[in-house]
Amino acid sequence: MKKMERPGLRLEFHLAALLLLFIGCSQDPNKGDVKAQPEVQVEVPVFSADSAFANVSRQVEFGPRVPGTAAHRSCGDWLESRLRTWADTVISQQFKTRTFDGKTIDGRNIIASFHPELGNRIMLCAHWDTRPFSDQDPENKNVPIDGANDGGSGVGVLLEVARHLSEKDPGIGIDIILFDVEDYGQPDDSPLPRVEDSYCLGSQYWSRNFHVRNYTARYGILLDMVGGKDLRFTQEGTSLQYAPYVVDRVWKIAAAAGFSSVFVPEQSKPIIDDHYYVNRLAGIRCIDLIHYDYSSESKFWKHWHTRKDSLNEIDPNSLRITGQVLLELLYREAAAG
Ligand SMILES: [Zn+2]
Repeated sequence: MKKMERPGLRLEFHLAALLLLFIGCSQDPNKGDVKAQPEVQVEVPVFSADSAFANVSRQVEFGPRVPGTAAHRSCGDWLESRLRTWADTVISQQFKTRTFDGKTIDGRNIIASFHPELGNRIMLCAHWDTRPFSDQDPENKNVPIDGANDGGSGVGVLLEVARHLSEKDPGIGIDIILFDVEDYGQPDDSPLPRVEDSYCLGSQYWSRNFHVRNYTARYGILLDMVGGKDLRFTQEGTSLQYAPYVVDRVWKIAAAAGFSSVFVPEQSKPIIDDHYYVNRLAGIRCIDLIHYDYSSESKFWKHWHTRKDSLNEIDPNSLRITGQVLLELLYREAAAG
């Protein structure tokens, strides 16, 4: 994932913010993709922080999941086998892609579906590959990161969500999509000629080549860096631009569950992450839950793209809060029909 640099898109953001102000004043909240429902009493399972943490730990044990390595292959096989125990179908979408430094690599998006026959669907996604370098680290920038948070945490939460869905069927269609080759993007200080759209290669491929014909979902939620200490999600600009109703719904559910200190009602600048391409290319409204930290230089989680993105920095409670909000959302959507 990267910060957005193109001025045109910034302008778009300002326009979107204005539009949002307008919508906030005048539009009927019942319109849009997310149903504004009177809250119903729903029994929502309790998300297990320990299981999610074990899922993160297991991924880190494989080693950095850099595309083209044995660790990446083994971890991909493990993810598929775990998801097969819980989901109705698991599709392994293989593709070839070209990185900014001219390598052709094999990628694999993994799509686990619950009730694939239903038209009423929600997609949840994260990337499972890890960055081949630690370019934000003060030293040794060529070392691959562990990606405990950047990659591992989102996947760890989604595996635990999958386990819950298999235990208690909410009766709606849900797709868990693990994108590959998200984090092979060109570093800012790369001496090579600038390559556009060098991040998010797996989600770009999927957005142009769905795993099933005519795929659609009501909306999507992307998780990226959801396991760090002092977790803090802001309302990120690209999410607000494309899917303001989804942001609103998720933030309301989080507030009702008592997590307003994590899901803070503040806007932050738009970024390019997998959700950007899902919105732009696939036309599916998708938001990004991503750790934002004003006090860090990057404004992202402070260990972003450094060698400190390790298991020591993962707080199971952050995984729990993220996972619980997803479960609250899914089981409420199901109950609301
Ligand atoms: Zn990253």
